[in-house]
Amino acid sequence: MKNDSFESFVSKVDNLSSLEFRLLKEKIENKIYSKRVSYILETPIEELKCPFCNLSDFIRWGKRNDMQRYRCKACSKTFNSLTKTPLAGLARKGHWLDYSKCLRDGYSIRKAAIECGIHYTTSFRWRHRFLTNAKFIKAKKLGGIVENTFLKLKESFKGSKNKFVVNKKRKDVFVLYGVDRNNNIYDVTNKGFSMGLIDRNFKQVVLPNSLVLTEKQSKFIEFAKRNNLRYSYLINNSDKLTYSGKTDSYKESFKDWINKNLRGVATKYLENYVSWFRSFNEFNSGIKDITFLYRAKSIEKYRYQAQKMLRFL
Ligand SMILES: [Zn+2]
Repeated sequence: MKNDSFESFVSKVDNLSSLEFRLLKEKIENKIYSKRVSYILETPIEELKCPFCNLSDFIRWGKRNDMQRYRCKACSKTFNSLTKTPLAGLARKGHWLDYSKCLRDGYSIRKAAIECGIHYTTSFRWRHRFLTNAKFIKAKKLGGIVENTFLKLKESFKGSKNKFVVNKKRKDVFVLYGVDRNNNIYDVTNKGFSMGLIDRNFKQVVLPNSLVLTEKQSKFIEFAKRNNLRYSYLINNSDKLTYSGKTDSYKESFKDWINKNLRGVATKYLENYVSWFRSFNEFNSGIKDITFLYRAKSIEKYRYQAQKMLRFL
């Protein structure tokens, strides 16, 4: 805007009604927040590549919704930093940082909607989009004393509009945990609980020489034996020094949180909630308000999985 037209624009502000003034103020604030979120999300954590052909030969191609667009020289497609990430195509960017704070504080969908001034359905959609990548971000290795246990829950069809589904017999759903003394947490959410499931998931994660602590008669004992790991019992442990009780309280607080704060969760989203809860504990020294926003932006290698998730959101 030229200087004279800008000055004439500013001079009109004095003549606005209070409603008009409030609307203008909201618009400006939204713009500022939107630009701030764009700045955060455009700050590269890795080299930007074309999300369609994975090459890095592109040119700047204007701006839209406060984000820089690019055009790939190889495949001619245009994209921005959020294309093919869980945040692609979501509107009202100015509220995303506030939403990230609501996730940090473990708010329900309704409470987050009120806090951010968005509709309930938007809040629901954002929650699961923001948490899409959370399931991939967990401990890669567990070592030293590793407490292995599981949580059994009943299948839930919360939110389902299909009346046949609602009357269906509820199966058992399991969350398998591995927690070491450095607060590394690894978990697996699954409808069944078999030796194969433990082997597939924990074999690569629990380091040799670890001491597996688990309940008596747990399948994790079999897992420890098969993999030549030392093991001992988590409950009624004769060596009380090795039992922290942390894993039990972790499980119990997760159950309390989903039942009391969130009033139950649908099984199809359980993994998202397990991962969301893990984030609180992983950052027990305090999660930054920006954390969930950063994590929502897909990391290159997760893009494929993220896209698969998006289909049913
Ligand atoms: Zn391309």
